[in-house]
Amino acid sequence: MNSEILHAKLKENFGFEKFRPNQETIINTILSGQDTLAIMPTGGGKSICFQLPALVLPGITIVISPLIALMKDQVDSLKTNGITACYINSSQSSEEQQYYIDNLKSNNFKLVYIAPESLSYLDSVFNELTISLIAIDEAHCISSWGHDFRPAYTNLGYLKSRFPSTPVLALTATADKATRTDITKQLNLRNPKTFIASFDRKNLSLEVRPALDRVKQIIDFIEERPNESGIIYCLSRKTTEELAQKIQKSGITAKAYHAGLDNTVRAKTQDEFINDDCQVVCATIAFGMGIDKSNVRWVIHYNLPKNIEGYYQEIGRAGRDGLPAETLLFESYADVIQLQKFASDGLNSDIQLAKLDRMKQYADALSCRRKILLSYFGELVTENCGNCDICNNPPTFFDGTILAQKALSAISRLQQSEPLAVIVDFLRGSRNAYIYEKNYQSLKTYGIGADISWYDWNQYLIQLINLGYCEIAFHQHNKILLTPFAKKVLFEGEKVKLNTVVKKVIDKNEIKETKAKTTKITLFEILRKLRYEISKDEEVPAYVIFSDAALRQMETLRPMSDEEFLAIDGVGKAKLEKYGQEFIDAIVYFENAKKKKAKAKKEGNTYKTTLEMFLNGNTIEDIALKRNLGQTTIISHLAKLYIDGHDLDLSQFVSDEEVKLLHKAQVELEYPTALKPYFDHFEEKMSYDKIRFGLAIVERNK
Ligand code: ADP
Ligand code: ZN
Repeated sequence: MNSEILHAKLKENFGFEKFRPNQETIINTILSGQDTLAIMPTGGGKSICFQLPALVLPGITIVISPLIALMKDQVDSLKTNGITACYINSSQSSEEQQYYIDNLKSNNFKLVYIAPESLSYLDSVFNELTISLIAIDEAHCISSWGHDFRPAYTNLGYLKSRFPSTPVLALTATADKATRTDITKQLNLRNPKTFIASFDRKNLSLEVRPALDRVKQIIDFIEERPNESGIIYCLSRKTTEELAQKIQKSGITAKAYHAGLDNTVRAKTQDEFINDDCQVVCATIAFGMGIDKSNVRWVIHYNLPKNIEGYYQEIGRAGRDGLPAETLLFESYADVIQLQKFASDGLNSDIQLAKLDRMKQYADALSCRRKILLSYFGELVTENCGNCDICNNPPTFFDGTILAQKALSAISRLQQSEPLAVIVDFLRGSRNAYIYEKNYQSLKTYGIGADISWYDWNQYLIQLINLGYCEIAFHQHNKILLTPFAKKVLFEGEKVKLNTVVKKVIDKNEIKETKAKTTKITLFEILRKLRYEISKDEEVPAYVIFSDAALRQMETLRPMSDEEFLAIDGVGKAKLEKYGQEFIDAIVYFENAKKKKAKAKKEGNTYKTTLEMFLNGNTIEDIALKRNLGQTTIISHLAKLYIDGHDLDLSQFVSDEEVKLLHKAQVELEYPTALKPYFDHFEEKMSYDKIRFGLAIVERNK
């Protein structure tokens, strides 16, 4: 279809100005009647690929989706865009289901979302419908190769034989080749055209920090980002609960989410998070699958993930709206030890250990992290990304030979029988009970590294492990052993290059400043509140009304007419009609308030100038001349200044007697607001200036 027409449809129905990579070609392929396999990362914009064709094609589009919560979300989203859609799944009563079936038969819906379990039940209904397109979301669920196999998906292959001439679109974010082939085969796709979008999510920043003082670092991180939603992934259920509690204590709404919690508790937490009522969720991997929340602004990994696939999927839940979003991973040696134990005790231990190793390499990387991630998914990137901690702070190396010698000889002195923490204590000459109990303080090299902080020693030792000079005996209480290479450093003069340790120091003042900045009411905050209120009224998540990206654009462009509002990315025809006025009103109100404030400020200044000149002995005439203002204006300034309590001598302009007369007249005339009645009352014998000044004195004496 003509690109201009497609763009017009995209704008009118979804409010977007441009297609994301691959969307337009995928849509054209479907419209030409061909089966299609679309592989796009989370947040890549898969939904548009079938929602837009659904509007163009004559009949109904069936969408197979595995998650009931997600169906509701997508249907809500479509409805706010004025598109007719419904879903049919087991959460509904049979009356409700019948209602939707009847409406489908009368062609009242363009899209219907169906859970795979409900397909057989609906089969007879299909005979009475014109089905133009079948979209299969999360298509990897059909493959037992994939990580999320769902038995109900295995029956989907019959759809192609049932509707041989209807194009099928399979969508997934799983890039794995075996899974891809399996999807095509099992769905009986006919010569599908395959599209693989880049997995690069440029708007996600990548950062890894050593896991010291994690809780404090996390609380600081959240405090620096008030009102921003985020997810913290933890390895254990216990950690999610403890962490959520600690975060709550600093006055941030945070909840735990894990498979051990009651279903209703979990659903409630998920809802609160989706609806912006809970800022932070501390979760095990169970969280995030079924949510489309586009304004997750950051994802933290409290623990090292098991593998890069999982990690990438989890960070992918941030920044789906395309705005900058942050990811932060904490790396701790204790985690590596634990994960290594899990992996070696589990199934396919070799593969799991190898995957964990890749994860660890990513965390320990000394070159662009995005390059490493994308190369894992088979994408070759030549440029550094500029949006990871390594790119922003390239490591610097120094000659660490002496440090290495000190550390390795300490390990040797301690008979290769102690874990990392004890070695650091020994190097630093710590006087703790364990050291004394073992009498380590009497050994020769005790305290030779006292000039280096605990934190830095930790990092240097980890680097030495990564360089292969020593290793951790995971099955022997994690004691540190020397490898044969240690000899080269200790006795053969081998040089060791170490990487300078940079500790991210968090500046409390900076946090205060950000806080102060954010307590200032911005237009974005006002629009966010308005969106929140509307979302409560309509019982849909806030991001369904408008994405953060749309609100940000409103803040920058300040649209004040329908036409300007429609130019916002994310505003289509339906949203303009439904929400345009309220948002425009809010923007106009904000702008007017701003102008008023500016005017008041300017006026404040003009009064101040008059006051200063008057107190410096200038006459009213002088001031008017010098300021190029009318004398009446200056008189009204002085009268107002007098009422406001400034120390001015007005007796030169109006006598006590005249003030008394004015006061009397005021009562008799029943407090007129204009001056003319007074002027008439005194038969034009009292000047307007006297009346003005006199009334100011009356006013102040009240
Ligand atoms: P996926 O299913 O691939 O994770 P979605 O279809 O949910 O992604 O889209 C992710 C987000 O991107 C949604 O908020 C959606 O509204 C937005 N989006 C999709 N296509 C576009 C586009 N062409 N321009 C701007 N935003 C888009
Ligand atoms: Zn980078």
